[in-house]
Amino acid sequence: MIQLYIPLNFLGVIYREIKQSLTDLDKMFGLLSREREVADTPDAQPLVVRGAAVRYEEVHFAYEPQRPILKGVSLEIPAGKKVAVVGPSGSGKSTLARLLYRFYDVGDGRITIDGQALTEVTQQSLRRSIGIVPQDTVLFNDTIAYNIAYGRPEASMAEIEAAARSAHVHEFIQSLPQGYQTMVGERGLKLSGGEKQRVAIARTLLKNPPILIFDEATSALDSRNERAIQAELEAAAQNKTVLVIAHRLSTIVDAHEILVMEQGRIIERGRHADLLALRGRYAQMWSLQQDGGRTESTDAEPR
Ligand code: ATP
Repeated sequence: MIQLYIPLNFLGVIYREIKQSLTDLDKMFGLLSREREVADTPDAQPLVVRGAAVRYEEVHFAYEPQRPILKGVSLEIPAGKKVAVVGPSGSGKSTLARLLYRFYDVGDGRITIDGQALTEVTQQSLRRSIGIVPQDTVLFNDTIAYNIAYGRPEASMAEIEAAARSAHVHEFIQSLPQGYQTMVGERGLKLSGGEKQRVAIARTLLKNPPILIFDEATSALDSRNERAIQAELEAAAQNKTVLVIAHRLSTIVDAHEILVMEQGRIIERGRHADLLALRGRYAQMWSLQQDGGRTESTDAEPR
């Protein structure tokens, strides 16, 4: 019996390995097919970043031809300034961010960084210049250290730890039996939404790019951590060009400009005080969040 048990058990292990690899391959091909939607032109040049001023000029975009998502969006983030986008769920906020990272090409109009159109520069140089803290971070099947160093593989352990401390995730990592060498991702330790986001913040702090995109989570972080991290992010964002997709208006009162999106268009724009004075959609969202507590999202519709 034992003679049969060992090979059968071994087969079981192999079966599970293959099944997991297929899941990973599936994901990889999913990603690759998306990557294939954009391509470097033969004469693409490396992006030359000076101040990192970002401009969207009359940008139109649709994932599917019959369903326009962005309908002529123009905006400017001057070098080193923070611009925030708010608006109901599905209005196109994250799409704006995806286009800046060039996950997709714009349908019409253009996006430039320091005057260079995204379609004219190499994707590698573009992506080196941008750090994204997404709502929902996908971790690689590797160690936590690898996941943090991903944007800067040559980083030393001391630099990785410093970034983790700033993102308030160092203590958590240290509490794990294998510390920074703990395997995470599908095949390793599963992290909570907040822990994953803090790993993403550490990764971005370590990469230290001139442009930051922060897609604020609606709920991933608890409020104590959130306040601490908010302070770190603000420190990290000093003198950087920042696009924030905000759900809590309290985090963007100091923004250079706030854009209110609805159904793929910017319907209001200005500084916090100007928008309150306007008594329009933003003022309405602001008063809802004051009444409804600080965790209310900008998705909140008047009920
Ligand atoms: P939320 O606040 O909920 O994150 P959002 O304003 O960021 O919303 P987007 O994620 O930009 O909204 O989505 C805008 C619209 O585009 C939505 O209607 C969504 O269903 C659609 N959409 C998003 N991604 C895709 C995709 N990959 N394929 C097709 N449609 C998509």
